[in-house]
Amino acid sequence: MKRHSFSFRLFACIELGSSYNVNIPNFYIRGFSNRETFKMKKITNTMFLLICVIVGSLIANCSYSDSTKIENSSSYQLIPTSSTQNNTGNSSAPSNTEITKIELKEEIIPIKIGETEIKVVVNKSSIATTGYLYFNMHDNENTAVEATKEVIGKNGGTLVELQHNGERLINFSLNRKQYTFDPNRIFTEVGIKKTLDNYGEYTLEAQKEVSRFANKLAKDYFQNSKLVIAVHNNTEGNLSIKSYEKGQEYGNDAKLVFINPNTDADDFFFVTDEKYYKLFSEKNYNVALQDNQNVTDDGSLSVYCGFNKISYINVESEHNYLNEQVKMLEVLQDLVKNP
Ligand SMILES: [Zn+2]
Repeated sequence: MKRHSFSFRLFACIELGSSYNVNIPNFYIRGFSNRETFKMKKITNTMFLLICVIVGSLIANCSYSDSTKIENSSSYQLIPTSSTQNNTGNSSAPSNTEITKIELKEEIIPIKIGETEIKVVVNKSSIATTGYLYFNMHDNENTAVEATKEVIGKNGGTLVELQHNGERLINFSLNRKQYTFDPNRIFTEVGIKKTLDNYGEYTLEAQKEVSRFANKLAKDYFQNSKLVIAVHNNTEGNLSIKSYEKGQEYGNDAKLVFINPNTDADDFFFVTDEKYYKLFSEKNYNVALQDNQNVTDDGSLSVYCGFNKISYINVESEHNYLNEQVKMLEVLQDLVKNP
């Protein structure tokens, strides 16, 4: 909503006050000369105007500070979840019977990698201080961000998002050289070397820069978390739950895989903790359990969490299927809270 400026509101208050006071002093004037009446009117008008200025400035100032407080907040319309018991995997949206407006508070933390600035954007629900930690590192996966904002607005929680160039990969410059890496391949030293090599040049100084960035993220957000929820989007025909079946691309990285053939294979959970695998598979949701001992060290967050015994759940769904991802995040809330 558009708000008028401080000076406009102050002026409006003064104008309003002076238009009301025109006839106020009339009952004093009987028995006084014209000159005395005029003087008196002038004094009373001035006093009234002064009171208007004080009251006006108090009102204007009060609403002005309110408006600055919400400057970095955004409103979202919540889609309440329907029953989480049936998992047909179809595209139907949850019912829209109760829509609640919620606010998220946003904090932007700039971090440098070499000479390039990356933004760590932290969104927190203003209605609850508790909740899970969500992380989105691929800047082109915007459905995951929107879905998570809706869910933390209702259930509480924190979304940490990396914003850089709107693409999956991060580019940075260091001492007149350009480097590229995948931000989900930087949480081990082996991973950093592989990803820099994979997308261009590798140097030790570039590795140190990326490592410093990854360590800061780990220290600030993951190290002390009991549960990290990663939110991702994929493209039809690429990564799916089927990629984790034996003989497939990531078959050796998964210990157990559960596939519900009646659902979209692009929508699935990927976990590091067997108790979460059980929760999802028992309710017929697509889920793969990482083999924490034998997984390929590609530096991804799941590998880092597996190595460091931090519970991790990846909520993966297709680009632009917002309702599906909201539903998956709500399912996660229900199952993890009430197993
Ligand atoms: Zn991703």
